[in-house]
Amino acid sequence: MNVTTAIEKLNELETKMYAYASAESALYLDGATVAPKDTAEGRGVALGILAGESHKLFACEETKALLDFLGENKQELDEKLNRRVELLKRDYGMLSKIPADEYMEYARLTNDASDIWHRAKETSDFSIFEPYLEKLVAFNIKFAGYYDSSKLPYDALLNEYERGVDMKYLDNFFNTLRNKLVPVIKAISQKPQIDDSFLHKHYPAEVQRKFSDYLMEVMGLDRNHCTIGETEHPFTLNFSSQDVRITTNYDENSLADSMYSVIHEGGHALYELGVDRELDYTCLAGGVSMGVHESQSRFYENIVGRSEAFVKAIYPKVKEFFPEQLNGVDADMFYKAINKAQPSLIRTEADELTYCFHVMIRYEIEKQLISGELAVKDIPETWNSLYKEYLGVDVPDDKHGCLQDSHWSGGSFGYFPSYALGSAYGAQMLANMEKEIDVWGGIENGSISHVTEWLKDKVHKYGCLKEPSEIVKNACGGEFDPNYYTDYLVSKYTSLYNL
Ligand code: ZN
Repeated sequence: MNVTTAIEKLNELETKMYAYASAESALYLDGATVAPKDTAEGRGVALGILAGESHKLFACEETKALLDFLGENKQELDEKLNRRVELLKRDYGMLSKIPADEYMEYARLTNDASDIWHRAKETSDFSIFEPYLEKLVAFNIKFAGYYDSSKLPYDALLNEYERGVDMKYLDNFFNTLRNKLVPVIKAISQKPQIDDSFLHKHYPAEVQRKFSDYLMEVMGLDRNHCTIGETEHPFTLNFSSQDVRITTNYDENSLADSMYSVIHEGGHALYELGVDRELDYTCLAGGVSMGVHESQSRFYENIVGRSEAFVKAIYPKVKEFFPEQLNGVDADMFYKAINKAQPSLIRTEADELTYCFHVMIRYEIEKQLISGELAVKDIPETWNSLYKEYLGVDVPDDKHGCLQDSHWSGGSFGYFPSYALGSAYGAQMLANMEKEIDVWGGIENGSISHVTEWLKDKVHKYGCLKEPSEIVKNACGGEFDPNYYTDYLVSKYTSLYNL
């Protein structure tokens, strides 16, 4: 084999893997959007086979020989090829340890579990989801050993979502947030609460759909490369840098829910659409980590989307969509309402200030679940008592409690902390961005393209070409420091509530 042939083989392998991944994504998207309710079984069979085939294709001796050969000829490869080989070797090391039958069984399990989770949530019945969750936890503990047996299982899982992050790091991070933010939440509880009742008038879904189109336009999302669908739980899915799908969920009694879901998922989409096109069909395509992804989505959702400058710029248009519902409401009232801070039950509807406490609760539960300290059957009780302790709220049922998120049904344990980390990365990126460009002047004029250009240059374009920590450092202008995030929140809420 010579280097040229090896590169051709690598390209062929990666394009085939892209095809399998695309087929899996298309089935997933179909299941979540338009497929009839009782059709999960067939997709489960197909997904199991696809997972098995892609596993066979990748985790074989031939792939190992190819990657070893390219690894030995580093000096003849460019930066991108070297990085591809490095990442594929890492994946190979991990995947080749998972037996093919376990891998297929797991793919079927997550498909079934997500279907059962939907039913369990609908009927608020944890007991039907419990046996599936038990299997998912057991699988993940086992997989953690395959990923890195030198680490504690939960550390190994965390590392899969945000390389370099472990429990020690997160305990510190969350302690900083707790120490700085609890006094602010307490101080707000002593102040008169903001009136946001007008956000909960009747907002017909058909008008909200048109409003979503407007928001996507403001964000600069090219509709020829990004569509919007409707699902129970909003998400973003990318097939390539040229084909990204976002979804939202319309609640006719709430304007802000879908509005900020669209901006959040739109932020994920801008990241995917901004990745260098040359990286498509390789393992370097797409966002680099969950934490960095959330730093982008939450940047658009909160730092931009809930800023005074942005809200005031788009408000006249918002009022055109909903003149009756917003009759007598001015831009300042609207800005305050969409930033109302109040401890609540649902993570995705939480305000910017109390949000990270929802994440901490899930982190504490996952920590105990994966270490074996907490049994699956005891999740509801622990969940409810942590909500009381951290947020002071009573959980009425599991639908509004431990069944609210889809993550565990998809086998994602260790994902949640990336939401809080991402928010914190974003605040530090803002501080760095403000040094380089006039962030707010442009936004006041109703345009965010300068923000997207900056983020594209510092984050998006790289795809997986660099490690997450390098990208974070690059965009933050230095080592990550969570105090930027707490300072940002303290200052924003001090002024909002006159603390
Ligand atoms: Zn997100």
